[in-house]
Order: sequence, then C-alpha cells, then structure tokens
Amino acid sequence: MKIFVTGGAGYIGSVTTELLLDRGHEVVVFDSLERGHRKAVDERATFVQGDLRNPGDIQDAMASSKPDAVMHFAAFALVGESMEDPGIYFRNNVVGGLNLVDAMLANEVPRIVFSSTCATYGQPEVIPMHEDLPQVPQNPYGESKLQFEGILRWMRERKNLQSVFLRYFNAAGATEKFGEDHDPESHLIPLILFVALGRRDNIKIFGDDYETPDGTCIRDYIHIIDLAQAHILALEGTMQGAYNLGNGSGYSVREVIDTAREVTGHDIPAVTAPRRPGDPARLVAAAEKAHRELGWKPRYPDLKTIMEHAWAWHQKHPNGYEA
Ligand code: UDP
Repeated sequence: MKIFVTGGAGYIGSVTTELLLDRGHEVVVFDSLERGHRKAVDERATFVQGDLRNPGDIQDAMASSKPDAVMHFAAFALVGESMEDPGIYFRNNVVGGLNLVDAMLANEVPRIVFSSTCATYGQPEVIPMHEDLPQVPQNPYGESKLQFEGILRWMRERKNLQSVFLRYFNAAGATEKFGEDHDPESHLIPLILFVALGRRDNIKIFGDDYETPDGTCIRDYIHIIDLAQAHILALEGTMQGAYNLGNGSGYSVREVIDTAREVTGHDIPAVTAPRRPGDPARLVAAAEKAHRELGWKPRYPDLKTIMEHAWAWHQKHPNGYEA
C-alpha cells in the first residue's frame, strides 16, 4: 500500500516509516520540520515539506500522492507547553487535523490511523486503564487530541472515513537508525541519558509526594518498535475505534532512574523538584483490546531492554540528529 505519514520526521513517525518500508509499503512523509528532523526521514521514503495549518500544503500533497491510507503523527505533544500556550495546541492538533481530513475526503483516501494519547483520559478512576473510561483531559494537549478523536468519530459516522485511534502511553527506546531527539528535550528517559552522557549535571524528579509507593509518578513505558508494529496492524486490518497501547506495568520516576544507572553504569545524580502542572500520579494501560482485536503482542515489554536501546542510540548520536 501507499501510506501518507504526517509527522514522519518526528520520533514515532520516523520509526513507523522505517518499519512500513521494511514491510514493503511505499511511504510519503509529510512534515513541516518545525520539530522534526530531515535526517530522521528514512531515505527510502518520499519527503514532502509542508504544514497542516496551511490547507493548500496538505491539499496539494494529498492530491499528488493519492495514498491508500494516512498515518497521522504530526502534532505538538508536550503537556507542560500546552498548559503555557493552549492556542498553539488547538491550532496545530485540531485545526491542522481538520485540514488533513478535508484533504483526505477531497481525494477519497478511505482510512486513517491516528496517534492519540492516554492524556485524553485525564486523572483515571481505575488502573490499569481500559478504553471505556471517561475522557476528561487535564491539559490542553489531551483536550486537543480528544477533540480530533471527536472529529474523526463524526467523519466515520457521516462521511464513511475509517479511523483507528491509538492511545499511547509513554513511548521510549529506539531502533538502530532512529531515536528520540526533541529540542528542547522534556522527556524523562532522554533527559536521564543526557546526564549519563555528561550533557547535564543531574535529573530533576518532578514531585516526590504523589500517592505512589515511592512518591514519584508512575508511567507505562512502551518500546517505539512495539508502538510502530501496532500502527501497522491497525493499518492493515479493517477494525475501527480506540486502542490503548502500553505494557500494563508501571514504573516510577525513581525506578526509571535506577534502571538507567544499571544500563549506563553512571551514577546519575537526581534532585527533587516541584511537581509539574498537569501530571497525573499514575498512568498504566490495560491493552487487552489491542492484543485481542489487533493481534498485537509487544516484543520488548521490559524497561531494561527499552533503556538499552535508547542508550545505544544516544551514545551513537550524543547531540541528536544535528551532530
Ligand atoms: N519527569 C521528571 N523529570 C523530568 C522529566 C519528566 O520527573 O525531567 C517525570 C514527569 O513528571 C512524568 C514522567 O517523568 O511523571 C514522564 O514524563 P515525560 O515528560 O517523559 O512523559 P509524559 O508522561 O509527560 O508523557
């Protein structure tokens, strides 16, 4: 199939593009490069630079490539930034998403696999979290992703546009070629590895007074290769609807730091800092629906393996893609 990948120069989009190409699909990457990296685009893909916020860019790219399906990764994805500047989240993730849908409908592209997030649930009532929990986002990032789910739900109902929403927990790890490089970086695992690389003096723990066993936040870390595989299963199948993607086991911030100490052999000094606004104490997935309906089986559920792969990539790219 010919797949149109928005955000294919970003972290999750670059790895999914690599795996799609390995499986014999043809890929067109559409990315503004505002946050992505040209070097993160697999050389086997066709690259189109464009911005979803400009309807002309996406209309032209969709009309000239005529894909069989879309995978939509292009978005802003930082909780903290969204709390400071909500408008850019709604403009990029909702308005940009609607421009993408318009271009799909105009060009009769039938199917979209959408990168959604566990942040659409907000503070969960139950752990592990299943897909039917109430969606009450606690930050504009989660709200923007939920609003686009709503747009796709109505487009399914009224315009016959097929859609799958993959609600990710915490993506981590790397392939041999592609890894995580945000500027500025705000994610826990790369920041910890920056300490091991000597790029930072210590890692800040955002809050140690949460209601968790060691007081730090618990997250469900999922290997980027497993995430990409779930996208391919969702693309190639006929199912629609929402699927949580996580491993069902949570690790606290302190446990993640301990794992990094073990993998890197560095002592990684940690200091306690205030809580980060918008952070729920505990986010852990129930992903049985994805196992059952998508046939998804994570290959790398173990945090240590995820950390080893991330560490291998960061050692090879100590300054990210721009080095
Ligand atoms: N975190 C932290 N120090 C940092 C970065 C993150 O303590 O320098 C915590 C953050 O508060 C959250 C967890 O690590 O509880 C994962 O954060 P990340 O930004 O990686 O992903 P998110 O859960 O926001 O998607």
